[in-house]
Amino acid sequence: MKIQNYINGEFINPLNDQWLDNYNPANGQVYGSIPNSTKADVELAYNSAKNAFNQWSNTTLEERSRILIKISELLESNLEKLAKAESKDNGKPVALAKSVDIPRAASNFRFFANAITQFASESHDSTGQNAINYTLRQPIGIVGCISPWNLPLYLFTWKIAPALAAGNCVIAKPSEVTPVTAFLLGDICNEAGLPKGVMNIIHGLGTSAGQAIVEHPDIKAISFTGGTSTGAHIARTAAPMFKKLSLELGGKNPNIIFGDCDYENMLDTTVRSSFANQGQICLCGSRILVESSIYEQFKADFVAKVKNLKVGDPSDPNTNLGALVSKPHLEKVLGYIDKAKDENATILSGGNQLSIPNFEGGYYMEPTVIEVSSNDCNINQEEIFGPVVSIMPFDSEEQALSLANSTKYGLSATLWTNNLKRTLRMSKRLEAGIVWVNTWMMRDLRTPFGGMKDSGVGREGGFEALRFFTEPKNICLKY
Ligand code: NAD
Repeated sequence: MKIQNYINGEFINPLNDQWLDNYNPANGQVYGSIPNSTKADVELAYNSAKNAFNQWSNTTLEERSRILIKISELLESNLEKLAKAESKDNGKPVALAKSVDIPRAASNFRFFANAITQFASESHDSTGQNAINYTLRQPIGIVGCISPWNLPLYLFTWKIAPALAAGNCVIAKPSEVTPVTAFLLGDICNEAGLPKGVMNIIHGLGTSAGQAIVEHPDIKAISFTGGTSTGAHIARTAAPMFKKLSLELGGKNPNIIFGDCDYENMLDTTVRSSFANQGQICLCGSRILVESSIYEQFKADFVAKVKNLKVGDPSDPNTNLGALVSKPHLEKVLGYIDKAKDENATILSGGNQLSIPNFEGGYYMEPTVIEVSSNDCNINQEEIFGPVVSIMPFDSEEQALSLANSTKYGLSATLWTNNLKRTLRMSKRLEAGIVWVNTWMMRDLRTPFGGMKDSGVGREGGFEALRFFTEPKNICLKY
């Protein structure tokens, strides 16, 4: 499969004619090539976006909304094809791509197509001064959207949809590891009637194509989802140009379980929150903290369930975990198992690479549960982003809070308890952008999404995203 850049509504080769291999994680085989784009390709995309901006930013909200809804409908009618493509590119089970990734991409477009028609700005009657102040929310212009590999189309569209709805033109870059569904989105944009140049998709490495987007002096806002160190680098690059930044970064999320919770629901959801998408979701609860009174029971029940998970062929509907996204990523995750052993942690389940019959070259790994005695170890402090969770006991609410908050990250936290007062107390004090109580990853697209501390800056979702992608201008009118 030959992937091309999508610029000015057309599919074109990178100007340097250089290409990168694209791998199928399920079998480790190269199955396509992607452009190794550079600054010159970004410049071409910028010029096409610039030419399109005047028309798009002046298109009526009804028309913008109609086109975005059409994109949403086309994503839905191509569900099967896109889900298979996402699975082949990323290694995730087809069933997961079909039930989560692709429907969510369609929802992103539908949601922001509607949200923009409800996006109001403020006005104030400046009493006693014979003046009215009102605020215009204007599109920023040309914006950059850069996304990671774990939820490829889901997160790509989570940025693009609000950017377009707000009247911006976009230069977007998917991860070089998972470019295919972004490539397929180009055709869908054309079919939906999105004017040429409004959306441009550049493929290639972060250090060249991504860096060129961030360095471009006239791309005034960057919405980035990815690793914390990449986010820090982007912030340093963008700072002298005073770009608007939204940074959605890594996590090391606590999953705090009290003895008074609804046990069966907690257990099933904890298996999911630990290993969904091979544990490669920024929101996965990778540090499981369990009240001492139920610790031994939880440990036995959880490990038994984890041992029953089926790892293998992503196209098999019974598969729970597919392949990890790439060989380097698998090696990185396995490296953390070695670190855990060095730190005398106890591997309760898993810990090894797996060879699956007929998929021998694939990047498979056993879902892994590690018992730790301290929160200071590597596997409790560093983001592993794979099918690896740690468990440890706590004795009191205060200790649970202290353990939960003791990492540099602050993306999400999950709390399992039926005690209302404790829920209110702890939710307030947890250092996390999102707190789930007695559930996990239930999303309402109207809510703000993002992290504290090293998990990011800014919020996406709902009107927060539309605020990010618009420039507020105050107009003071004296009468
Ligand atoms: P990454 O930081 O390596 O790459 C993310 C994207 O940035 C890719 O498209 C990459 O090509 C690009 N990039 C890399 N260097 C760049 C540079 N110098 N300039 C511009 N762009 C550059 O992250 P990844 O490995 O693809 O994704 C995994 C990470 O993403 C994890 O840390 C995970 O927690 C995080 N993540 C966060 C969220 C969230 O919402 N907070 C969601 C999903 C994933």
